[in-house]
Amino acid sequence: MSKNSTLEAMLKQYEQNSSSKSSNNTKKEYDLKNYFTTFLKDKENEATKRIRIIPTTDGTTPFKEIWGHKIQVEGEWKTFICPKHEKNEDCPFCEAHDALRATGDEAKKELAKKYNARRMYVVKVVDREKEEEGIKFWRFNHDYRKQGILDKIHGVLKAVQQNITDPKTGRDLMVFIARDQNKKPVVSTISHVDPSPLSSDADLEQEWLNDTRTWEDVYAVKPYDYLEIIVKGGVPVWDKEASKFVDKSSVSEESDNLDEEVTLGVPNVRPNVVAATTATVTESSDNDEDDDLPF
Ligand SMILES: [Zn+2]
Repeated sequence: MSKNSTLEAMLKQYEQNSSSKSSNNTKKEYDLKNYFTTFLKDKENEATKRIRIIPTTDGTTPFKEIWGHKIQVEGEWKTFICPKHEKNEDCPFCEAHDALRATGDEAKKELAKKYNARRMYVVKVVDREKEEEGIKFWRFNHDYRKQGILDKIHGVLKAVQQNITDPKTGRDLMVFIARDQNKKPVVSTISHVDPSPLSSDADLEQEWLNDTRTWEDVYAVKPYDYLEIIVKGGVPVWDKEASKFVDKSSVSEESDNLDEEVTLGVPNVRPNVVAATTATVTESSDNDEDDDLPF
């Protein structure tokens, strides 16, 4: 081993060990490279992204349906995968939803909608401008108005009448992102280009096709205690001494026992970046279509 590679190994070890100061089992390392998003930068008014959908190994649809709850935490819309729908485990959101509906009271039934599980899709793609970053996961909402991302991709399927994910004869998609009248980024159009192979590099193509990761590898299903704090309007932080999640507001800010890294409202990693949505109409305060990342 040369001096340099030893140095690299040591630096890497140091970096790994100094970045993993919290070791509770709910902590997940989030790597931005794993996510395809339709964010626009602050001064950017439009963008076009060229992507390729990766086919599944068993020929099933690449759009994996998942269920999640959307709620604002410290002012930002966040998505939480539903433990009941995905793992058949207790879910504080679903419990709140059912309890409110069971009251029979119209106002409470209306409020119950806030805790409804929403259908979403996750699809594996390659961003042609960032092929070196490998496969990315794109999560987006089902749109009952039929104006969503899946509806737009469906439009392409209808037009080309072909499996666009085929590694040899499939097609890349062009995703156009623009701002709507409220300056909110939206996926305005999705179109296709001429057929092309997934990659001209056979090894790389095999690597992508054999990628066995699923959405569960990049989106965590949070534990009950954590979600319960969210449902109650709090912000979970990890209390090292008590070895459990507690509401941030219930403890002193100066406490040494808190692990801020698991705080939900992690300071925005991309300040001034707004997420694209497919919403073309802002539905007053009910507009929860914001794209988000799992931290
Ligand atoms: Zn649920």
